[in-house]
Amino acid sequence: MPDLKHYLALDVGGTNVIAGLVDQEGRILARRRFPTNSGRPPEEVIADMVVNLKALSGQKPGGCRPEALAVGLPGWLNQAAGLLIQAPNMPGWVNVPLAEIMSQALDLPVHLENDGNLYALGEWLYGVGRGLDNLMVITLGTGVGGGLILERRLWNGSFASAVEIGHMPLGLSGGALCGCGRRGCLETVASATGMSRLGREWLRSGRPSAYRGRPEDLSPRIMSELALIGDPMALHVFREAGLALGQILSGIFNLLGLEALVIGGGAAGAFDFIRPSLWEVFSERLIVTEPSRVKLFKGGLGEDAPLAGAAALLRKHY
Ligand SMILES: [Zn+2]
Repeated sequence: MPDLKHYLALDVGGTNVIAGLVDQEGRILARRRFPTNSGRPPEEVIADMVVNLKALSGQKPGGCRPEALAVGLPGWLNQAAGLLIQAPNMPGWVNVPLAEIMSQALDLPVHLENDGNLYALGEWLYGVGRGLDNLMVITLGTGVGGGLILERRLWNGSFASAVEIGHMPLGLSGGALCGCGRRGCLETVASATGMSRLGREWLRSGRPSAYRGRPEDLSPRIMSELALIGDPMALHVFREAGLALGQILSGIFNLLGLEALVIGGGAAGAFDFIRPSLWEVFSERLIVTEPSRVKLFKGGLGEDAPLAGAAALLRKHY
């Protein structure tokens, strides 16, 4: 049996960076994680990335080098130029020639990709989306990311990016300020950050809640625990997030005729609480098919999804 090829993968989030060593079958052989601390200068974060990737490359069985590196980024890219143009949730990351920097540091070919695209590839090829032809994968994290599989291919659009679902507008005007500088984007309500913001708003207005911690410590994880005991703040937040997602997603599903939706990302733990209101709007607005024909899944791979997706992407080229 010929040796399996190995690759390095990096999933850069607004909160954490996860680095992995993967094989061509999408198996994760080793992984390391560290906080992004996105307030730091990009050079410091990049130095952390390089240290962790070098440590991982040394773990390849047989001691040979990995073939290439794929970097999933939460922002807008110029893939051909290897440039991260802007990342809304990472201030200071503007026009960073990341592919060249990483390629020089690691002496490997480097491919930049939208993080939602890597996540979607992972869930489609190795996770709950296996065997499907047309699906959307969304991630609820610091922002709301996503990827689209259309006719069994990852959709990149004309600008090698595509599917910035987090910045689709919820209304014609108004709404909370988004990291992208606009107002009323989906992720101001449905991301982990957006949900925490809604929770803090609830607390500030003096409405009842069992939460006794500091408002700034509120998170979807804490609100999920509160929702289990029927806390009105937590139930309100998840209902709002679900309604917003249902509104945006019903439009997308009517447009494209997709057969499945996968919800992953750090806040997917709240899936059971978000699902009812999401489905309420979604099924009411869906007109291209019976709602019962659309499958709704919680992501199955968790933080491994983008790493597995990186393997799928790189094995086509290296
Ligand atoms: Zn936005």
